[in-house]
Amino acid sequence: MIVVGAPGAGKGTLAKRLAGERGLPHIATGDILREAIRQGTPVGLQARRFVESGGLVPDEVVIGLIEERFSRPDTVRGWILDGFPRTVPQAEALDRLLARLNQPVDAVLLLECPEEALLERITGRRSCPACGTPYHVKNQKPRREGVCDRDGTPLVQREDDTEAKVRLRLEKYRRETAAVIPFYERKGLVRRVDAAGAPDAVYRAAAAVLPPP
Ligand code: ADP
Repeated sequence: MIVVGAPGAGKGTLAKRLAGERGLPHIATGDILREAIRQGTPVGLQARRFVESGGLVPDEVVIGLIEERFSRPDTVRGWILDGFPRTVPQAEALDRLLARLNQPVDAVLLLECPEEALLERITGRRSCPACGTPYHVKNQKPRREGVCDRDGTPLVQREDDTEAKVRLRLEKYRRETAAVIPFYERKGLVRRVDAAGAPDAVYRAAAAVLPPP
């Protein structure tokens, strides 16, 4: 299954929940890239300036990461892709990879959310650098301002979550990523999900259009 949507549409939140419920790996290129950057690997060094400025990492770099990830045995029973493919060449490369692995795509969930809401969600987003729990300064406040409920670690904001960079990311989404929707529409795979509401409502809307676990 593939989850597509603009930055802030809630791909990660939904994909994590579906993955947990279905026992499938959640494969998020954004998470893989941020981890590579944090560890200073060769891919991380290559990707850093693109990720931190709000641009897109070159196709060959992310396609390489995905090929490597799909060589791990936990992907044979299925997977949930989040943040990939983000361009038509990435979608084409994924098609070739999946043909080679003999794995079909069952569904492409398209999370739809108005743009004003996206900006508010992302610029208010914070997370715990230790355990990954997401927060929002208005919609999902921690009990004590600025620190994680679970482990008391000070919360952080992603480098690319500032307003100017979010505007650039939304622009990239419209100009490059939106084209993967007709690509999968032609294959009859797209399932539209209203993603404007709270995480639970989005989850229920997604569950309603998916095959049962
Ligand atoms: P969001 O969906 O909120 O923008 P992600 O965590 O999915 O956040 O991605 C963060 C950044 O990582 C992107 O802005 C981009 O720089 C990079 N990135 C992630 N996935 C891809 C991809 N498939 N192709 C190119 N760049 C990517």
